[in-house]
Amino acid sequence: MGKIDLQLKADLSNVTDFIVGDEHYHWNFRFECTSCHEKSENLATISTEDSSQISGSRGEANLVMRCKFCNREGAASIVSKPKAYTAENSGRYATILTIECRGMEPVEIGPTPGWVAKSTESKQTFEVDPSEGEWYDYDDEASVEVSITDVESQFVRSKEK
Ligand SMILES: [Zn+2]
Repeated sequence: MGKIDLQLKADLSNVTDFIVGDEHYHWNFRFECTSCHEKSENLATISTEDSSQISGSRGEANLVMRCKFCNREGAASIVSKPKAYTAENSGRYATILTIECRGMEPVEIGPTPGWVAKSTESKQTFEVDPSEGEWYDYDDEASVEVSITDVESQFVRSKEK
């Protein structure tokens, strides 16, 4: 069993606290089986709202899925609250979510609409869809352009045990 961090990198202009709009956000991930290393054909949805029984154990996980190739069962659970990506992180990777995995690991993130960000220049908040890798808007209160560009993500082995 291991922990994987989802890290985000983006260039934030006049905004901060870039985060999914819901604590129980439904993430779309592609998983790779850790025994046969095949990637799942479809994206799987994982949320802290969901729970499934792990076969042959009393445990539960947010997502339990069987590998279509080797038939081994894998399980994954989100073990952290979504963390906001702040203006201070701009341009470098920061961990925004931690996932505990058994038998499978997330390797790719699918479209993720429904994010929010706050203006650094006024009290305005914005709804953001970073799926295209960039987002532009205008802060009426402060009369400045706001943007989030060069959005990239990666999964890394968590340093946290
Ligand atoms: Zn497999």
